[in-house]
Amino acid sequence: MCPCGSGLAYDACCGALHRGERQAETPEQLMRARYAAFAKRDAFYLARTWHPRTRPDDVGVDGTRWTGLTVHGSAERGDEGTVDFTATYEGGSLSEHSRFAKRAGRWVYVDGDVA
Ligand SMILES: [Zn+2]
Repeated sequence: MCPCGSGLAYDACCGALHRGERQAETPEQLMRARYAAFAKRDAFYLARTWHPRTRPDDVGVDGTRWTGLTVHGSAERGDEGTVDFTATYEGGSLSEHSRFAKRAGRWVYVDGDVA
């Protein structure tokens, strides 16, 4: 099963995005794929989908055991988008209002406000 909680097999879901076979078509799809990349510790995908202006040198893949994702809402207007979500991990949770932008036809993560 895909870590993003879609109920689909990983290969048919975020796995196809991680392998570069498909591109995220919406900010929410990218957010789900990035959550799955954190769960799979795919630093390459995280770096590739991070806006170069805000991308840290260390994308933050660590030993955290991510246990679930809930998307509360998302919006998209032109080349900008937002997603509100809560991600849970062993021992806690993280809620964030994330901002995304479209660059050269591809959605990338810009930054977010932790709730
Ligand atoms: Zn998925």
